Amino acid sequence: MKIEKSKSLFSRAKNYIPGGVNSPVRAFKAVGGDPIFFKSASGAYMYDEDGNKYIDMINSWGPMILGHAHEEVEEAIIKAVRNSPSFGAPAERELLIAELICEMVPSVERVRMVNSGTEATMSAIRVARGYTGRDKIIKFDGCYHGHGDSFLIAAGSGAMTMGTPNSPGVTAGTAKDTLQANFNDLEGVKQVVADNKDEIAAIILEPVPGNMGCVLPQQGFLEGLRQLCDEEGIVLIFDEVMSGFRLAKGGAQERLGVIPDMTTLGKIIGGGMPVGAYGGKKEIMDYVSPQGPVYQAGTLSGNPVAMAAGHTILNYLYDHPETYGKLESNTKKIVAGYKETLDVLGLDMTINQIGSMYSLFFTDSQVTDFESAKKCDTAAFGQYFNLMLQHGIYLAPSQFETLFVSAVLSDEDIQDIISANDECLRAVM
Ligand code: PLP
Repeated sequence: MKIEKSKSLFSRAKNYIPGGVNSPVRAFKAVGGDPIFFKSASGAYMYDEDGNKYIDMINSWGPMILGHAHEEVEEAIIKAVRNSPSFGAPAERELLIAELICEMVPSVERVRMVNSGTEATMSAIRVARGYTGRDKIIKFDGCYHGHGDSFLIAAGSGAMTMGTPNSPGVTAGTAKDTLQANFNDLEGVKQVVADNKDEIAAIILEPVPGNMGCVLPQQGFLEGLRQLCDEEGIVLIFDEVMSGFRLAKGGAQERLGVIPDMTTLGKIIGGGMPVGAYGGKKEIMDYVSPQGPVYQAGTLSGNPVAMAAGHTILNYLYDHPETYGKLESNTKKIVAGYKETLDVLGLDMTINQIGSMYSLFFTDSQVTDFESAKKCDTAAFGQYFNLMLQHGIYLAPSQFETLFVSAVLSDEDIQDIISANDECLRAVM
């Protein structure tokens, strides 16, 4: 496979863009080799600058749940651009998407649109602090909530991949208000809460973490957090930037039956455009300016092009609930194929899967938290990743990311993924 043009673009990009990319994990540092530069994408496939075709298993890190260049989303975007790319003033589409989010996501009675998942989580904790009058938050090691200062403490995703879980530039003053806990360790969380009685504003977590690879909450963990927050007057925030509208119409909270006080959203709700949102109980969201005293604003918030794309995709998911069955069956077929290979090769590797999120971990230990995820053989993963790329399968370039299956994979695509996985595991293990 030739990637000469990608190589040349990357080499030029490094002269002008830090590390040659606009988001660290794209640089392929964790897996070695040069990143691929893409020219176009359609349905389940992406096409690079050298004319190679790939089955996309990342789907822009989640948003392209219906595949690339979905006709209805594309048309909505073009129409919105023609009406004006930005008003900086209210427009009907903002109301329509808000109505739909409030109807679909169980915890959300009021919602504010922002421009990224990072903005959503930063804003949500500010509101939780304003509402409770407390300063501290609890976050879980290996969960990633964007690059806001308060969250770059033992963070997952790119921060974990690049080996910089605690970023320089985050002040000690900010870091001291972020308390850490282990995912799936309810007793540990209770202890942190007891040690900081009446000081904790919020517990924030990905209910199904995807940023240390896909990790599943154990029975009773989310329920226990819900009860603890109720008893202690703490705002429970589910960061559903990844899992929202992916694990079910109403996200992980609907699927798992635990309803937080606040929810953060992103990715799918923008249909590929830059969008985030935070919402929750009316009583809490009434603290947001101009209704209440907690300030939060945005020049491009509720941007008409982004709202058109997001509203169209959410409408589609609302009207086509069968999409979730298709997502689940696509993913289960892939995982069943992987398991067959593991059996034949006598390999005891861990696969975590829920809905259309899954990870193949290069370890024989169960992966239930940050510590167990770190046991993976990342060098072997790097080899596997590069071989899969040569087979035309575009995976997340890090062991510590979930994969995002789209609804548009054909049975032939699924067979190609399974066969490539079989050949690549045989070569690496
Ligand atoms: N929260 C979660 C769970 C995420 O996975 C991400 C990004 O991957 C974010 C927040 C940050 O979103 P963004 O990259 O849009 O700022």
